[in-house]
Amino acid sequence: MKILVINCGSSSLKYQLFEMHHRKVMAKGIVERIGERGSRLVVEIPSVSNSKIVEEIKNIKQAANLVIRVLTDKEIGSVRSIKEISAVGHRIVHGGSQFSHPVIVDTAVKRGIELLADLAPLHNVAALEGINAFERVLPEKRQVVAFDTSFHQTIPKKAYLYSIPYRYYERYGIRKYGFHGLSHKYVAQRAAELLGRDLIKLKLITCHLGSGASVTAVDKGKSIDTSMGFTPLEGLTMGTRSGDIDPSIISFLVEKEAMPLERVKEFLNKECGVLGVSGISSDFRDLESLAKKGDSRAILALDVFVYDVKRYISAYIGILNGIDALVFTAGIGENSSTIRQQICENMTYLGLEVDAKKNKCTNGNECRISTSRSKPIFVIPTNEELMIALETQEAIRTMEESFA
Ligand code: AMP
Repeated sequence: MKILVINCGSSSLKYQLFEMHHRKVMAKGIVERIGERGSRLVVEIPSVSNSKIVEEIKNIKQAANLVIRVLTDKEIGSVRSIKEISAVGHRIVHGGSQFSHPVIVDTAVKRGIELLADLAPLHNVAALEGINAFERVLPEKRQVVAFDTSFHQTIPKKAYLYSIPYRYYERYGIRKYGFHGLSHKYVAQRAAELLGRDLIKLKLITCHLGSGASVTAVDKGKSIDTSMGFTPLEGLTMGTRSGDIDPSIISFLVEKEAMPLERVKEFLNKECGVLGVSGISSDFRDLESLAKKGDSRAILALDVFVYDVKRYISAYIGILNGIDALVFTAGIGENSSTIRQQICENMTYLGLEVDAKKNKCTNGNECRISTSRSKPIFVIPTNEELMIALETQEAIRTMEESFA
């Protein structure tokens, strides 16, 4: 079975074609600058060099046409005909409270995604355009949607509700939704496989540490709490996002800095986090290299980040009443041994200790980086696209079984 995975943004379309039996990527690429000058498709063919196709791509529909043309191209294509592709899986950022599982697209599903655009205006609208485009170019194929929020739909109400008047939860759906769900789910499943144990029997904490970052408590395979909230702004200090702050800071700054309210969102999303604290960069590679040279603000920014991650891990160990394994993933989690070491420092009380030698793991490798007396600590490269492909396969199987 071959599944095409689509991740549509407002000006880009990423795709990967999976051969599901071996979970192998057959082709991947990205259409960039859709609707802008210099639009192009960069095709990555595993074990062959990249190839760049520059042509005018005015909209997502044209991008979808181009992807199919390239996938079936005689020279650089990966399939002989589109008949070989069984289904298309689309990534959707926000599934609200309605979508707790991947689903096969129909009119009602599209309407549901459209109604949630209030919560993720840029992402959900672009994803819908992607679905419409692939329905047109591959009319006979099943389209499935997998949501970033679904995995967190098992969080109990006491954890997802904010302490504001209940009517706003009822009226606007203001609650914690959580994000990076496809990533947390994927690494939790992999951790269980690596441990050779049933996920249903495990208490895990998964740390997705990238330019956006979140920590999730996973009990018996289900998310029971996560650090991101109503939007991806809550939780850990991130590259440029503030994470948790006292809400009064906003009204204070609006008054003191004469900051217009409409600027606040941009400020909190783009000018805070480690960029704001360091005043230098949001990139952890820059900060680590400056910290090594003794730059005090770079050191401080990294300390704030590490402290935040420790705070969430510790809280979630308490909530889970223990831990069977800790997992690091995403750009920082997969590559920065320094940050991983610092996060796990002085955690022996909680059963966690990093082995300095094993912690050298980088470059997309799966490693167990804990000492023999520690609970297992893993580095597991995330694979959200494979998770979408697996969820697509699952949604189709469930539907076929219900008709059987
Ligand atoms: P992501 O959003 O998952 O792509 O992660 C991006 C983040 O990972 C950026 O802040 C990068 O600085 C960070 N990152 C990537 N490689 C490394 C590395 N070798 N050491 C430290 N941080 C890294």
